[in-house]
Amino acid sequence: MPQASNILKDIFGYSAFRGQQAEVITHVAVGGDCLVLMPTGGGKSLCYQIPALMRNGVAVVVSPLIALMQNQVAALHELGVRSAFLNSSLTHGEAFDVERNFLAGQYDLLYVAPERLLTPRFLGLMANTPLALFAIDEAHCVSQWGHDFRPEYIQLSVLQERFPDVPRIALTATADTVTRKEIIERLGLNGAKIFVSSFDRPNIRYQVIDRTSGRSQLLDFIQSEHKGDAGIVYCMSRKKVEETAGWLVDKGVNAIPYHAGMNTQVRSHHQERFLREDGVVMVATIAFGMGIDKPDVRFVAHLDLPKSIEGYYQETGRAGRDGQAATAWMAYGLGDVVRQLRMIENSEAEDQFKRVASTKLNALLALCEASVCRRTLLLRYFGEIATDTPCGNCDVCLDPPTVWDGTVAAQKALSCVYRTGQNFGVGYLIDVLLGNDTDRVKQWMHNKVSTFGIGKELDEKVWRAVFRQLIALGFLTPDSEGHGSLLLTETSRAVLKGLQAVYLKQQKENRRVVKLKRSDDLTGFEPIEREMWERLRLWRTETAKEHGVPAYVVFHDATLKELVRLCPQTEKELSQVMGVGSHKLEMYGVSLLGILRG
Ligand code: ADP
Ligand code: ZN
Repeated sequence: MPQASNILKDIFGYSAFRGQQAEVITHVAVGGDCLVLMPTGGGKSLCYQIPALMRNGVAVVVSPLIALMQNQVAALHELGVRSAFLNSSLTHGEAFDVERNFLAGQYDLLYVAPERLLTPRFLGLMANTPLALFAIDEAHCVSQWGHDFRPEYIQLSVLQERFPDVPRIALTATADTVTRKEIIERLGLNGAKIFVSSFDRPNIRYQVIDRTSGRSQLLDFIQSEHKGDAGIVYCMSRKKVEETAGWLVDKGVNAIPYHAGMNTQVRSHHQERFLREDGVVMVATIAFGMGIDKPDVRFVAHLDLPKSIEGYYQETGRAGRDGQAATAWMAYGLGDVVRQLRMIENSEAEDQFKRVASTKLNALLALCEASVCRRTLLLRYFGEIATDTPCGNCDVCLDPPTVWDGTVAAQKALSCVYRTGQNFGVGYLIDVLLGNDTDRVKQWMHNKVSTFGIGKELDEKVWRAVFRQLIALGFLTPDSEGHGSLLLTETSRAVLKGLQAVYLKQQKENRRVVKLKRSDDLTGFEPIEREMWERLRLWRTETAKEHGVPAYVVFHDATLKELVRLCPQTEKELSQVMGVGSHKLEMYGVSLLGILRG
């Protein structure tokens, strides 16, 4: 049997395995079943691709999305691996050819849609072909409670019944224990070894800022930290998607919109552009993202608060799959909290659902308002016994917020809510606290209440932050009618009575909380090296176009950077560079050396 590490180097051009890859590969290569839980970008594909190349016969990979299959096969072709896919995008003739090649042992890997795999015809073909293994990708699709449920996945238990001697490897990035159990049961994986990786994404830097002007904060972030990078900007509504994309374009950002209300053709055209071109910023609703395995997304930005930590983690997880530095950035404000609380309160759902939804929202708010390491909170939320060592790569770690004793301020705010009859929103309450004698205040005669003008020691901005945090901490809640009025809660009494202290975070004056280093990290490069970088990128764009594949399939940014840094002058030196396997060396060696010797 060929050695896994030789294949890693020779075919994929990588020098070391990541995380548990080596253990998984060894286990499958000798015929073991397993379930692999690894975060997005953890490198799941290699876990079955390498055993596929080590073992006799064809590896059959079950994959739920046509686009994913096509990308994987395109990438394998670039590596010179014999592979194909079988799904509804092929004509009868094409599918027939693939089947014939499959029977003739022409492939090392065949990607198949589940409904196709389950046909008697294909099951029959498999019975007549030596099989290396079954890989069941996105195995959480078997879970009826998950949002990616695919009924055909349940029937995949047939594989075990029909082909008991063929090892099976199921893979997913969904971590929770309920889903894990379901996968094991439904796919008949009892007795299979389970590989659980940490779900930490150390290369992603988490950053949450107070939203003031939203859009311009975003622009500032993109320009100062991610100029020219590919990224995704998530917005709550279709309208906001359109507006934000248009505005960014006016400001010189290469942005395009994506949401479910757009015509299908335009939508898929935009998706293609995002995948294939360098440095496109996709402004989208959460309709965008499933099955996007672009590895060089450098940032994911949220202009609105997501619904839960699960959603946040999944969306931000689309950044930095290639392991290079990436940023998860979010701007959130008082309006988000009020809107979401109200949405839950007003939903038709049963009480139990409302309780779950508000618990989830509270966990997210705690993350947003955190004055301790955000990564630690995230990992703990997902049940990982994270160490309490701060990560050093989130905004809180890099620039710890100052916490102040806000008990008196909280008492003033809460009592102002009480004195004005729990009928008013934040803007009005702040007017009363600051003693602003507005017409409205006079009309309600609140210039006569005891809390009028008692908050002059803080300015309006600080009061806004105080109210936001009081809501996030559960001491205030918006009314359910949607008037924007704030109401006291059961817990506010303790604060008003002086039984509970309230600690608040100091607001930062500057809009950028932490200035991050440019992620493409060309900072250390000399002008001449930057020029080389541009030339290599240009070459990559042209080559990708010629081959009809996304640029990153030709080479990742990381490889181009290595090329600039090491400037190899011979084929041998070139073959040492990360990401340069033997097939790519053969195809691109001459042109690359031509450029590098330039
Ligand atoms: P997942 O499916 O777990 O999200 P992928 O299999 O797509 O992740 O891998 C993410 C990226 O990391 C890919 O671009 C892949 O080429 C790269 N990668 C995987 N394993 C390694 C490794 N051992 N060394 C370097 N890069 C790797
Ligand atoms: Zn941290």
